[in-house]
Amino acid sequence: MTPVTTPLPATPTQRLFFALWPPAELSRELHRLAGNALRGGAGRRVAPENIHLTLAFLGSVNASFRECAEQAATAIRATSFTLMLEQMGYWPKPGILWAGPNQTPSLLIQLVQELNAGLVACGYDAEKRPYAAHLTLARKTHLHNAVASMEPRAWEINRFHLVRSHTHAGGARYEILRSWPLNSPAA
Ligand code: ATP
Ligand code: MG
Repeated sequence: MTPVTTPLPATPTQRLFFALWPPAELSRELHRLAGNALRGGAGRRVAPENIHLTLAFLGSVNASFRECAEQAATAIRATSFTLMLEQMGYWPKPGILWAGPNQTPSLLIQLVQELNAGLVACGYDAEKRPYAAHLTLARKTHLHNAVASMEPRAWEINRFHLVRSHTHAGGARYEILRSWPLNSPAA
């Protein structure tokens, strides 16, 4: 008789990323602006509740990596800052319409770098491309004007989140798992 082999149980993984989440009012406004930019043209707008700014994308990770990533986040001593959203950009290849700052605040770069450094110690393969701070507003769009200015909106950032991505046929759903505060700037 052929021996029965029991397959090893696959280690459960979760698709995770660190992100900043705008307040609902700002998300609604960005969603509306994306609607104006698309002007009824092709494209899939991101639902307001899904609009976010990714700090670091972890991908599918197991429980021990998640634990290490949470410890790395807990160790971070970063300062809160204001992010000015003042341009709408367009990346033609993926057809992404996004909103972002004209210049990435140094405190945001520091936060991303600290996070990456902590994650690398967990065995993370950090993103090699330069960090491009953006909130994706629509995908699969075809626009003619690459960049447009927008009336600047100030977004006060005082926490960051660990988020789980649940992917469904209808698109992603995001679940905030845990949040960490940023320190108030010294007076
Ligand atoms: P979908 O993949 O269903 O279109 P999504 O891209 O929003 O939705 P995820 O793929 O789970 O959902 O990604 C979560 C976040 O991480 C998004 O902001 C996405 O742009 C970003 N992200 C995904 N893959 C990478 C990657 N390889 N490098 C950097 N950021 C990534
Ligand atoms: Mg994706």
